[in-house]
Amino acid sequence: MTLRRVALKVDCDTFEGTRDGVPRLLEIFAAQGLRATFYFTLGPDRSGVAIRRVFTRPGFLSKMIRSRAPSLYGWRTALYGTLLPAPMIGARCEEAVRAAARAGHETGVHGWDHVGWHDGLDDMSREAITREYGAAHAEYLRILGVPARSSAAPGWTASERSLEVQEERSLLHASDTRGGEPFFPRAGGRTFRTLEVPTTLPTLDETLAWPALSGGDAAQRAYFRSAVRGTEVHTVHAEVEGRSKAALLAGILDDWKSDGVEFVTLSALAREALARRDRIPEREISRTRVSGRGGFVTTGWPEAARAASS
Ligand SMILES: [Zn+2]
Repeated sequence: MTLRRVALKVDCDTFEGTRDGVPRLLEIFAAQGLRATFYFTLGPDRSGVAIRRVFTRPGFLSKMIRSRAPSLYGWRTALYGTLLPAPMIGARCEEAVRAAARAGHETGVHGWDHVGWHDGLDDMSREAITREYGAAHAEYLRILGVPARSSAAPGWTASERSLEVQEERSLLHASDTRGGEPFFPRAGGRTFRTLEVPTTLPTLDETLAWPALSGGDAAQRAYFRSAVRGTEVHTVHAEVEGRSKAALLAGILDDWKSDGVEFVTLSALAREALARRDRIPEREISRTRVSGRGGFVTTGWPEAARAASS
């Protein structure tokens, strides 16, 4: 029988998600007795800019996201950076960040300005990327008192330049991409030595937009229950599973637990891979689409990324 394991990666993208969603997730994880890896966005929350764009973009996916955006994210978040000023997440959520670390979870850097990175990485100069990424690491260090050993790119958006900047930190691993197994990324003729541990499962904010799973929580639970085939990395969002979808997440975790799925951490998966370093594949990074998400994500395993989202 194949070993079925899940590493939970928690992306904290917004102010309200970090302030309210993180404490809720800490309760859920404590009740389950499991450890996760939290990635924090620490600069301005300009979610309103991204949400406004969804409202002005035509197409089915936009319609699906549009109909759910206010209930998923909350109306204040939908206005941050547009009609309401953008709150600085690190400065205002220190307690939530520290609480996650204190509870024994792994922590790392998600980014500084999530929307800016997700939308603009390809247009940013190397200096701008260094500044943004450096600001997030500096704020992390200020709040937690130790340097981050891991980071996860906002919106799974990475590039040759962002990997170069990331490589200058002594990280144990990064988790910037979708699909496949841990690998050393290649881009622009260079192979990077920072191990990449990809997210393998689709995210709930994607599967909620899948027409085949429109049957509510039962359909979602059935899907995630059968989706764990081997060792999986599952990304949850503090603003979604830590708020309106907390009960659904708890249900999914219950199902996995009763099926004997084991929980591991991302750093454990990284150490496991690095113990057999010569067997770690090198993979060229590219961009692909995954079902239920607008825009592109970065991947080292495009076939695996697409297969996981159908
Ligand atoms: Zn994110």
